[in-house]
Amino acid sequence: MCHAVLFTAPKGNGRLALAAMLAKTLLCENSVTEPCSICHSCQLFEAETHPDFHVIKPETEGKKISVDAVRTVNKYAWETSHLGGRCIILIQNADSMGEAAANAVLKTLEEPPLNCYFILFTASIDHMLTTVVSRCDKWHLKLPHESVVKCWVESELFESVPLQVIRINRGAPLAAKAFVERGSLALHEELITEFSAYVALKQNLFIVTKKLIKSGSDALQWLSFLLLDVMKLQLGTTEGIVHSDSMILVEQISYSVSFTLVMRQLTALNRLKNDLIKNSGLNHELMLSRWLSDFQ
Ligand SMILES: [Zn+2]
Repeated sequence: MCHAVLFTAPKGNGRLALAAMLAKTLLCENSVTEPCSICHSCQLFEAETHPDFHVIKPETEGKKISVDAVRTVNKYAWETSHLGGRCIILIQNADSMGEAAANAVLKTLEEPPLNCYFILFTASIDHMLTTVVSRCDKWHLKLPHESVVKCWVESELFESVPLQVIRINRGAPLAAKAFVERGSLALHEELITEFSAYVALKQNLFIVTKKLIKSGSDALQWLSFLLLDVMKLQLGTTEGIVHSDSMILVEQISYSVSFTLVMRQLTALNRLKNDLIKNSGLNHELMLSRWLSDFQ
């Protein structure tokens, strides 16, 4: 195996479980194809206390991986492993590495220590340093067909789930399951209903703003999908529509506002989404109500 593997897969696709399984296998003292779950190394891994398995990830979702975190782990890479075997470094959300952190990883990737292996995963390589990507063996994890994902989620939850839940979660099974489990199904339904009524009637701006804040950070992505669906419908296509179970609402918005306005608002929404993630000190309520008022 190459000294570095890069998985590309969306969040909620089991990529962390797969990366952990690979790490456990590489560390196992008895097997090369799958972990034995009996040896000392496997037991330490299961107890999450393996001294030669190091994880780097953003401190909080949406934040950058710090260069200090990379430097600390790089140091372990050059030391002799505690158990005398391999050393594994797992980098979660590798696209969250800023330039300094990515360059620090690159140094070790260029001349990897003999028994050190890197496992990286990311949703997309677009924001990764190309020199880091080129040093890795790239594995793209394909998603199952959405109908298969829907069946799986329903069998796990013992309830029927609308197809749009799978699409909102980009076809990732674990993400779709978690969406239903944390109650986002009802929140999403309420939000898009209130939002489309607001766009059609230009009333209740305050209520929709509150609903957006209550629905959490994913809500802006839901509206982003919804506005893209509206644009598709206005262009005369239903192909690739996310909100396939809420077509009445998509139609309601598409009759109420022009294509140009939807496009402008979608661009502004995507910019707003990034601004709010990057800068938690911003006044969310004010910025969201300003964006909503631009529909008038
Ligand atoms: Zn083992």
